[in-house]
Amino acid sequence: MTDPHNVGDPTLDRYIRQVRYPGLGADGQRRLLDSRALVCGCGALGSVLANTLARSGVGHLRIVDRDFLELNNLQRQVLYDEEDVAAGLPKAVAAQAKLRKINSQIEIEAIVADVDHTTIGRWLEGVDVIVDGTDNFETRFLLNDAAVRFGIPWVYGGCVGAEGQTMTILPGETPCLRCLLQDAPPPGSTATCDSAGILAPIVNVIASLQACEAIKILSGHREAVSRSLQVFELWDNRVRQVNLDSLRESANCPTCRQGDFPWLEGRRGSHTVVLCGRNSVQLSYPDRHAVSLDALAQQLQGVGPVTRNRFLLRLEVDKFQITVFPDGRAIIAGTDDVTEARTIHARYIGA
Ligand SMILES: [Zn+2]
Repeated sequence: MTDPHNVGDPTLDRYIRQVRYPGLGADGQRRLLDSRALVCGCGALGSVLANTLARSGVGHLRIVDRDFLELNNLQRQVLYDEEDVAAGLPKAVAAQAKLRKINSQIEIEAIVADVDHTTIGRWLEGVDVIVDGTDNFETRFLLNDAAVRFGIPWVYGGCVGAEGQTMTILPGETPCLRCLLQDAPPPGSTATCDSAGILAPIVNVIASLQACEAIKILSGHREAVSRSLQVFELWDNRVRQVNLDSLRESANCPTCRQGDFPWLEGRRGSHTVVLCGRNSVQLSYPDRHAVSLDALAQQLQGVGPVTRNRFLLRLEVDKFQITVFPDGRAIIAGTDDVTEARTIHARYIGA
């Protein structure tokens, strides 16, 4: 006999528990299946976001992450396991493999790359929503510029210690990140997961809120989207909802009101990033010359132990670990000093 909850469409069967939720329904589920999300960064927040959106049946996930896995990621980055770490996989690649086992009916793209003003246009092609899995304000302000410029909703999220916050930006309708913060805080001025640590539960809370906002947007229910900045502190048990209704009028935001997009146009932002909590510096090169990892492995013979797979090459030398990607980007671990990182890179890889 028929299942009372059967909606008569076998493609929706696996989602039946959420289809039964009246706010979403079968029509909402079909829209989800027909939608595309950009998961920008696939560390702590991004893991939970990608996991939840894949299970919920968002039809196309594009996951962009520049980083590779380390053992201390596993405390909070729920998509990964010890085998992924041992394999030295980039996060985007490990995420894609795991998510394909979870939901083989959706498309999952893995892109191992940095998100900067030269690449963001590519990653945004065809995307209906952007979810923020990044760990720095420079990238968030770039996302904000691009989202407002191209009219794509985005869901900001950030966590440090036991505290996190999230806000949903519907361009032209709700305040943007720059309405709220005016400018990216200067490097070193805010607590990071390096200085303040981070607890896994806050990541799950914030990313779950972000995922739900994305599901509302993608299923055609913008009316349900939160119009507040939501702030949670889980250790001292504080919850705040900051109403943002009047902010768009009062902020006179350069981005929303004057069409100023300095991060998107490359007038703001750098090509060197100190990686949060990692004692590492990333160097990237805007001209993006491709690197032959084979040739580089040859060049480094005798310098120090080299390991490589098809996604990256890694050299251990002195106290440093240098990881080079085929697009020329490099991560120098063992220092948070940009100049020292440049020196080491120039010495062994050649700038
Ligand atoms: Zn604004």
